[in-house]
Amino acid sequence: MNYHNRCKLHVFGDVYVTVNDYNNITYVHVRYFDGKYPTKKGVAMSLARWKSLVQLIPKIQENRSADQSAFEHLGGNCYVSITDGIPGIDLRQFWMPDGDLQVKATRRGVHFSQQDFDKFVDLIPRINCYIPEFHDIKLCSERDDHQNQQGLLRCKECNPNEYHIQ
Ligand SMILES: [Zn+2]
Repeated sequence: MNYHNRCKLHVFGDVYVTVNDYNNITYVHVRYFDGKYPTKKGVAMSLARWKSLVQLIPKIQENRSADQSAFEHLGGNCYVSITDGIPGIDLRQFWMPDGDLQVKATRRGVHFSQQDFDKFVDLIPRINCYIPEFHDIKLCSERDDHQNQQGLLRCKECNPNEYHIQ
């Protein structure tokens, strides 16, 4: 096992973004800290999820200014969302309970006020300084086996809940 921390950047309150390599896999965490220590409240994103989040920012900002809800899948049941009647933006891990058809929110996530989300967005170029491979990251949807719906449905990242169309 090896672990390497690339950066820890403050977003707001007790929330930090960290980029680290764990067994040679890079993760971007957005997470509440308790003093020096990370808590379970937050998300760990693979670089593909991180890139899809970054690419979704303009859309999220647009929905936000238009007062529209949003529910965007980053992969593996990680969502960025805006909910009607709840101010701010939510970045969160969801899960699908057995036998259910709708994903449910977990406590593992961060809720941003609009102001805090702006701080987060402003921080993205600085975060990406620590991810020199950013432009080479391939999104799941860009892969050859995702050019038809079958491939998409078979992908654990895009379709994590094994929902099968009959
Ligand atoms: Zn996929």
